Amino acid sequence: MAFDSLTEKLQNVFKNLRSKGRLTEDDVKAALREVKMALLEADVNFKVVKNFVKSVQERAVGQDVMSGLNPGQMVIKIVNDELVNLMGSETTEIKFQPGSQKTVIMMMGLQGAGKTTTTAKLAGKFKLKGKKPLLVACDVYRPAAIKQLQINGEKQGVEVFSMGDNQKPANIAKAALEHAEKNGNNVIILDTAGRLHIDEEMMEELQEIKNTVEVHQSILVVDAMTGQDAVNVAENFNEKIGIDGVIVTKLDGDTRGGAALSIKAVTGCPILYVGMGEKLSDLEQFYPDRMASRILG
Ligand code: GDP
Repeated sequence: MAFDSLTEKLQNVFKNLRSKGRLTEDDVKAALREVKMALLEADVNFKVVKNFVKSVQERAVGQDVMSGLNPGQMVIKIVNDELVNLMGSETTEIKFQPGSQKTVIMMMGLQGAGKTTTTAKLAGKFKLKGKKPLLVACDVYRPAAIKQLQINGEKQGVEVFSMGDNQKPANIAKAALEHAEKNGNNVIILDTAGRLHIDEEMMEELQEIKNTVEVHQSILVVDAMTGQDAVNVAENFNEKIGIDGVIVTKLDGDTRGGAALSIKAVTGCPILYVGMGEKLSDLEQFYPDRMASRILG
């Protein structure tokens, strides 16, 4: 499970703090040094860790923790608050267009990140909200991806629009919108092609889709197991295409959790959902406060 070792380390630091009746400034500093190490070992971005520790320290000293009734608890609360801040304070929802207008969502990400699976997972969530989603197979390079989307769409009871593999993704997106108009679909989710690495061609293709149809939400899917690479990928996509939100997959397999903790602080883009397993139901809305509580154990 994500954050296991971070949780264990933080709990040790806090146990030490609680066991002391009064805290000196040096006690707090020593504890924060350990918090810093624990975050770095969890693969949290270095700058993010530095700023985090600085904020906690300023608040801890500013709020006169040393003379507080229960100084250990106070430090723990400040760490909790700052973790919540780091991950974006509030839950960010995917924004739908008002009324009966259609919402077009473009899913992006590197190959293997979990994009196609997440697209189907999201469709299931939207269906529960009373929407009528249409999944669109825009990954024309991997016939297996089209098949996979069809299979998952069927499992979710959601229609999949595909034009095979010899059309341009932008044209497929355009045709899908016309199909949605006739068919009454109000959320159109475009499953675009990934590559093993970021490349110009992929970015141009995404841009062409955006130039051809009006995309309301561009969502990036990243793999938590890739740690700080996931953060770099997010920075890159945000610069080149612009992202409205990130979905972090495979948090179930990532024991460190650094990507989930760094993405918002580094890119400014909120995490919308986290993938917690391979099953189509394993997608959880991201609540910064609940995640902070989970991390602190
Ligand atoms: P794509 O190339 O980005 O479209 O990636 P896929 O959707 O094909 O996913 C790649 C692999 O990751 C598949 O085996 C998925 O079952 C798996 N996967 C996707 N999301 C998760 C997740 O949240 N947890 C786990 N454990 N596996 C996932």
